[in-house]
Amino acid sequence: MYQILHHGAVNGVTGSCHQLKLHDGTSFLVYCGLFQGAEVSAAGSQAQSPNDNPLLIEFPLEGVAGLVITHCHIDHVGRIPYLLAAGFDKPIYATEATAHLLPLVLEDAIKVSITRDTGIIAPVLRRIQELLVPVPYKQWQTLSSAPGSPELRLKFHPAGHILGSAYVEFALPYASLNQGVAHKDTRVVFSGDLGIEHRLTKPRTPQTNGMVERFNGRISDVLKTNRFDSREDLEQTLLRYVHLYNHQLPQSALDSKPPIMAMKEWHKTHPELFKKRPYNHAGLDS
Ligand SMILES: [Zn+2]
Repeated sequence: MYQILHHGAVNGVTGSCHQLKLHDGTSFLVYCGLFQGAEVSAAGSQAQSPNDNPLLIEFPLEGVAGLVITHCHIDHVGRIPYLLAAGFDKPIYATEATAHLLPLVLEDAIKVSITRDTGIIAPVLRRIQELLVPVPYKQWQTLSSAPGSPELRLKFHPAGHILGSAYVEFALPYASLNQGVAHKDTRVVFSGDLGIEHRLTKPRTPQTNGMVERFNGRISDVLKTNRFDSREDLEQTLLRYVHLYNHQLPQSALDSKPPIMAMKEWHKTHPELFKKRPYNHAGLDS
């Protein structure tokens, strides 16, 4: 049958790295993340000697036929440079958007935590580009494995977490019985991270009387309540919303009058709200 081994995100939630192993020894890694925050020191304190580095890949890569990543957060992909350093040279499967983002995210991560030497960074990024296999959502992809090995397939499904995020469904070459129904394969799902948190732009100074927060909140609602078929669909929806928020909503609040006319009418009906009489200042502000 098959085995699932856990190399990270065991005692905490970061450093995700799992290994899906078939009976013939072929295996696929799922995520290769960095330990973050308090878990860095936790991993360090469990180290056997001061030389042990929790970033290093401590398990054998023999039989590993590929890496599957579900999204580009650093706690799921940050140890990929260390994986390459350990000799990994197999395909990296990801959704199309994640395949675009991965080199950018890793470039930043390497610059922040390892080196800014472009002579070292460029070949690593080039290697990652060569290994990446972009897979469209909701399409079965056969994973390359050793000749004669049983066929293993995967499919990415949208996870609504970040751009390009997915949960991944594997079809393993083992017949299974589920609720009395026989299936010719066995399904295993790795969820990755699901759902979205409030990670939108923080309000800047000067204070905006809650306008930024309201705008972020509305965008967050749009993202929570809609499913997007593609990157273009997401972009168009956001642009439509920005237009609606900046133009249509204020216009209807002003009864479709020009702002200066609406101000003058408020001045007439609510003079106590004004210190000065509103007037049209023609020309550019100086
Ligand atoms: Zn995440």
